[in-house]
Amino acid sequence: MKQILWFRRDLRVEDSAILSNAQNEVLPIFIFDKNILEKLPKDDKRVTFIYQSVLCLKEKLQKIGLDLAIFYGNPKDIFTKLKNDGFDEVLTSIDFYSFAKKRDEEIEKILPLKRYIDSFILNPKDVLKADKTPYKVFTAFYNSLDYLHQSTKIEEFLNKTNLKKVDFDYSFVPTLKDLGFDKQDLPDFLYKNPDELIEDFSKKIKNYQENRDYFYLDAGSNLSVHLRFGLISIRRLFNKIKSLNAPQKEIDFYIRELFWREFYNYILYHFPHSEFENFSDIKVNWNQNEDDFINWCDGNTGVPIIDASMKYLNQTGLMHNRLRMIVSSYLTKNLLIDWRKGEKYFALKLLDYEASSNIGSWQWASSTGVDSVPYFRIFNPYLQSEKFDKEAIFIKSVLTQLKDIPVKSIHKENEVQSNLFLDYPKQIVWISYSRNRAIEEFKRAKNQLNC
Ligand SMILES: Cc1cc2nc3c(=O)[nH]c(=O)nc-3n(C[C@H](O)[C@H](O)[C@H](O)COP(=O)(O)OP(=O)(O)OC[C@H]3O[C@@H](n4cnc5c(N)ncnc54)[C@H](O)[C@@H]3O)c2cc1C
Repeated sequence: MKQILWFRRDLRVEDSAILSNAQNEVLPIFIFDKNILEKLPKDDKRVTFIYQSVLCLKEKLQKIGLDLAIFYGNPKDIFTKLKNDGFDEVLTSIDFYSFAKKRDEEIEKILPLKRYIDSFILNPKDVLKADKTPYKVFTAFYNSLDYLHQSTKIEEFLNKTNLKKVDFDYSFVPTLKDLGFDKQDLPDFLYKNPDELIEDFSKKIKNYQENRDYFYLDAGSNLSVHLRFGLISIRRLFNKIKSLNAPQKEIDFYIRELFWREFYNYILYHFPHSEFENFSDIKVNWNQNEDDFINWCDGNTGVPIIDASMKYLNQTGLMHNRLRMIVSSYLTKNLLIDWRKGEKYFALKLLDYEASSNIGSWQWASSTGVDSVPYFRIFNPYLQSEKFDKEAIFIKSVLTQLKDIPVKSIHKENEVQSNLFLDYPKQIVWISYSRNRAIEEFKRAKNQLNC
């Protein structure tokens, strides 16, 4: 029996479902998939991160007596060739995203595919209400999992020790240039491994709940990118956080955040249409003005907190959770633009882009999803910046042209623009006007739904 171990979003050797379920002779592989790469701009930061993580995985596999065969091409062609080379089956981890599901269906026609739940704690199939239907409310979902999040440890996978490396040519290592990409500078924390990040976070966790919304502070764990590409397993992260010497309520709060990630994956599994359509049947007449959308993308809306957040995203691939909530509310309510456009834009830019979390969070913000924010609760971006960035530290660090502007003006609607010497755009919509427009439109759409 010759098995292919297909690493995709699980780039590690510890607590690995496929290394634990493998048998006998194995060929670990990673495919730089042309179908995905060809759609990305050549300055995509994620490719630099994945590239360095794949080289690191190769080294780690070598240390345990295996190796990693790297391919660049179309998975269908690669598996057809491997089948002809005498391989019997493929082991890999499950991904519920439509692109991944389709790709796997194609590969299954070539070789048997064994898929394991690895990137998430839960198998969504196993968690249902008493009436056997899926949960749609986070709190009920979370409460039903008391036994799990209250436990101190989740069992991890142990690697098989008797695996034998298949005789194969493991020498191909393309450069980023060969893949059509330019090496990008990454934020410093992405050069750290997950253990270092957890060590950093262990010094901050005691203030996590209090500080996490202040986006000029670095109060979070910064682990979402590592989780996305499986540099640490979700089980090990859970276990490590549980064992930290920290107040229990802070540990519990952090673990709850991890279960939001589980929840959105669960929703995508049970309601795959929510990737493309409003989860609820509501039909909003979205604003089709392309200029409004482009101004949002480029950070030219005339609202300092929105512009700073979007410019920062464009420069770094990062955005703080609170800022994601503010800019998504602004796009879908104040600009009344379809959440799918914002979701796609985030998908292109975010280093930690995770389809399920992104889709779920966008539907939450636009009041079209499960357990969403009520449509009449619309963030006022100026009140948000005043509350969470009182001294405008973050805003001024990005919008450097505002560095000498009094903070009071930055938190007041259209006030910065009264300085005629400043290079800063006028607001594209007024906040109270656009807020009322959104409430009226959502009210209309909801009433239509009830008819
Ligand atoms: C509009 C919008 C889009 C988002 N898109 C993504 C995305 O594509 N990928 C992504 O990983 N997160 C997304 N999030 C959730 C959240 O913003 C990030 O997980 C968080 O900012 C990552 O920083 P951190 O690791 O320091 O978080 P921490 O505060 O340290 O949280 C720990 C972990 O919990 C999980 N988590 C925290 N909040 C959420 C949440 N609301 N939903 C799901 N998981 C959560 C993440 O895995 C995170 O790494 C989105 C949120 C919003 C409002």
